[in-house]
Amino acid sequence: MLAPFTPGWQTTEVNPLVIVKSEGSYVYDINEKKYLDTLAGLWCTALGGNEPRLVAAATDQLNKLPFYHSFWNRTTKPSLDLAKELTETFTATKMAKVFFTNSGSEANDTQVKLVWYYNNALGRPKKKKFIARAKAYHGSTWISASLSGLPPLHQNFDLPPPFVLHTDCPHYWRYHLPGETEEDFSTRLANNLESLILKEGPETIAAFIAEPVMGAGGVIPPPATYFEKVRVLKMAYIYHYEHGFTNVVLSNTIQVQAVVKKYDILFIADEVISAFGRLGTMFGCDKYNIKPDLVSLAKALSSGYMPIGAVMVSPQVTEVVYSQSNKLGNFSHGFTYTGHPVACAVASESIKLYKERNIVEKVKSISPRFQDGLKSFSDSPIVGEIRGTGLILSTEFTDNKSPNEPFPPEWGKFYFLFFISYQISFANINGGIGAYFGGQCEKQGMLVRVAGDTIMMSPPFIISPKELISKYGNALKATEEKVNSLKSQHKK
Ligand code: PMP
Repeated sequence: MLAPFTPGWQTTEVNPLVIVKSEGSYVYDINEKKYLDTLAGLWCTALGGNEPRLVAAATDQLNKLPFYHSFWNRTTKPSLDLAKELTETFTATKMAKVFFTNSGSEANDTQVKLVWYYNNALGRPKKKKFIARAKAYHGSTWISASLSGLPPLHQNFDLPPPFVLHTDCPHYWRYHLPGETEEDFSTRLANNLESLILKEGPETIAAFIAEPVMGAGGVIPPPATYFEKVRVLKMAYIYHYEHGFTNVVLSNTIQVQAVVKKYDILFIADEVISAFGRLGTMFGCDKYNIKPDLVSLAKALSSGYMPIGAVMVSPQVTEVVYSQSNKLGNFSHGFTYTGHPVACAVASESIKLYKERNIVEKVKSISPRFQDGLKSFSDSPIVGEIRGTGLILSTEFTDNKSPNEPFPPEWGKFYFLFFISYQISFANINGGIGAYFGGQCEKQGMLVRVAGDTIMMSPPFIISPKELISKYGNALKATEEKVNSLKSQHKK
């Protein structure tokens, strides 16, 4: 297998961890070893590993109609039902239509084509550029990887193309200036966004895309006022507009959303990780008062049980696309499996379960134990920052608590050799301290996501945090000891 996000040498030299079974928050490997799965697969199995209602929904639909497509105004009942359910469930703004994909990456690729189609329909052929953010993750197809702001997704793939621009990553701890408050930091970033738009020409910028909480880039919740407070400013905008002014006078604190609205730029909320309760609200947009024009969904949409993604489209965009179709012809975009009936049936059942089990309240009640329990380790000398909200969290290991003092990367090589002799199934020369921590978790039967010296978790909503916190504490202690011994070795 050519393994995703894995160096080629590793697939030939190290046996993969082969998972064969899941049960609640646990998965089992081929040797029957049990692991607490703190990443819910890949941020997706929100209802855990063996939810019988989802299995039944899939089985019923497989028996009834395993497949029919959604091209040429033909479709299936499960896809119509799911589209209705989604537009009714999302209330941050009104959504008129839903386009189904197989994944989050395809959802974001679809967003780009849809926005281009929209601007072509409006006779604005120059308005085609996208602004995303450094450290964003939006997928790994060529457009969604381009929107992502992570260099490894671009290097060696000749990405991104010139129509994709990146603005600042909103990570306060790492990027704030001395003495700058979170609010000032957010304002500076909004100003930088506005400068970028003006430099490029607002008539060339089509859309801005953002995850409510950045996920794969390191779990980065937005700083205070980055998204919020927009309502007040938006009202000011409407007032001026109605009185014939085209220029908006913004107050000292300006927000990203206000800037985007000001220049008639569409706002795409990438809710692939944050939707369906993960942040303690049904959608990330609810939590941060985001008013998007377009929304991308995937992952917990089917609790990870079937591959499915979706694009939700505002009435304004729908109206243009529909009304101009005589001029532009077909909306010639779609996949064989767009609206796959089995995937849609499982997704509808997932949403039904989220509502029936009051998942938002459940996450709200678990998350203080999860967040506070893990953040109580923030004083550890090897921890730079522990950050998160709801049921998503990351730990960044740094020396002296500084964002600018990473542990030496060559320590990673040492751990690679150590693990080879200790356990052949885990070796990561890219990781250093992060990989060591990950290995300590794995040894105790717990899987975490390791990305360099950042560890990420987004457990299933059925998790009980006690075991997770205790294993995390043990792994941290072992990692502290390792760092101490490495430090004394390097002093000699
Ligand atoms: N957007 C976000 C925010 C994601 O986290 C991901 C996947 N981690 C994607 C898009 C891409 O989704 P997929 O892997 O289903 O293509």
